[in-house]
Amino acid sequence: MSLAENQILDAADPLAPIFDPDAFRLTDKQIELTALARQFGQDALAPRADKWDRDAVFPMENYQDMHKNGLLAICVPEANGGWGADYKTYMMTAAEIGRHCGTTSLTWNMHVCSCLWTGALADDLDMNDQDRAEHERRRAIHYARIVNDGAIYAQPFSEGGAAAAGTRPFGTLATRVDGGWLINGKKIFASLSGSADYYGVLCTEQKENLSRRDTMYVAVPANAEGVEVFGDWDPLGMRGTVSRNLVFKDVFVPDDAALMPKGVYFQAATSWPHMFLTLSPTYMGIAQAAYDFTVKYLRGEVPGTPPVKRRMYPTKQHAVADMRIMLEQTKALWFQVISEAGPNPTKEQVLRAYAAQYTVMENANELCQLAIRTCGGQSMLKSLPLERLYRDSRCGSLMLPWTAELCVDRLGREALYERGEDDD
Ligand SMILES: Cc1cc2nc3c(=O)[nH]c(=O)nc-3n(C[C@H](O)[C@H](O)[C@H](O)COP(=O)(O)OP(=O)(O)OC[C@H]3O[C@@H](n4cnc5c(N)ncnc54)[C@H](O)[C@@H]3O)c2cc1C
Repeated sequence: MSLAENQILDAADPLAPIFDPDAFRLTDKQIELTALARQFGQDALAPRADKWDRDAVFPMENYQDMHKNGLLAICVPEANGGWGADYKTYMMTAAEIGRHCGTTSLTWNMHVCSCLWTGALADDLDMNDQDRAEHERRRAIHYARIVNDGAIYAQPFSEGGAAAAGTRPFGTLATRVDGGWLINGKKIFASLSGSADYYGVLCTEQKENLSRRDTMYVAVPANAEGVEVFGDWDPLGMRGTVSRNLVFKDVFVPDDAALMPKGVYFQAATSWPHMFLTLSPTYMGIAQAAYDFTVKYLRGEVPGTPPVKRRMYPTKQHAVADMRIMLEQTKALWFQVISEAGPNPTKEQVLRAYAAQYTVMENANELCQLAIRTCGGQSMLKSLPLERLYRDSRCGSLMLPWTAELCVDRLGREALYERGEDDD
């Protein structure tokens, strides 16, 4: 797929890339996709972002556009009609999307994981020949839905207990029946609820002793009998994600609904841990957006505001310097971590990944609060994006399994204890 096919021309882009292609030595595909995301973000996502936030509605129009410009299939392999973006390419592209619309970037992540995990990540994992062949066949069905029909996937993972933190088996169960599985259980905070065509459900195969090793990843059609969306959605931030609750009651899915062969999700979660960092690019984008806004605002250049300059005050200059330092530190660490992500990382790489997730999530919010303090009262009116960035940014630290708290827990423990060590 190419930009020409997408009919998005390389018009002059007034926004500089988050990661300068030369300085960060981006590949041609990374340059092409991040440019596409920036242009699309600026032309389509930013002007509409307020609408999803204000009414807490899912950005379906953006998804229809992403089907047309190919971003819906960013991590679908080229052989299956997608862009074939790898992990790092996706992460940088998602940051550019998050810069313009947090809700779209975060929900897009849930969708994209259904392709990234089954695609580039699964290619790195061990499977016997039979499982590999079956996986290739099944994922082709799932990719065709996305490429041809614009199907949207959600990723309900959280259950309100310890499972999503990665310490217990998922309470949602898959019971073997003739020709497939019966799914029973409940998920909370399911972004894209009511809008996705498929729920990529993480559940545990029903056995006498439940084990995380028996985690299954299954595509449940949203319109299947026994699927219900329930609960209100009126949150502080990320309002357009519409993350309501789901209940699955004796929902039948055929064998081909399996998005990964048995045991492969567990293998991914243990040997490809950077897969849980994919919630961070949204907030990397928000951090950049808070900084961009502040510079423009202090220069008197934010559209819709009087051309009043505030840049001459030393306190503002110091605040911008502080913001820039924090942004550069965040970007540098994050870029290092997404560059070294892969199967079987070293302990140092995993600790760095926790540090990067924590840093992006907390610094995005810190940068937003500094932006509001520095720009002042008129900057946080609802007619401007800054107050939405501030609210959206607070949600980053809450995302399981790598919440800010859990990253700190793991960093401290895993830095002080080698695997299997205790004090008895
Ligand atoms: C905007 C938004 C969108 C979301 N979208 C999705 C989605 O699409 N799919 C999805 O699956 N989830 C989604 N989530 C849910 C998210 O990943 C968390 O599961 C959810 O925020 C957990 O709710 P809680 O904080 O009440 O959890 P609780 O279980 O009450 O945990 C509270 C905090 O305690 C800590 N904690 C939890 N378990 C442990 C443990 N075992 N050990 C130590 N500390 C622990 C964590 O820091 C956690 O943040 C979304 C959340 C938000 C805010």
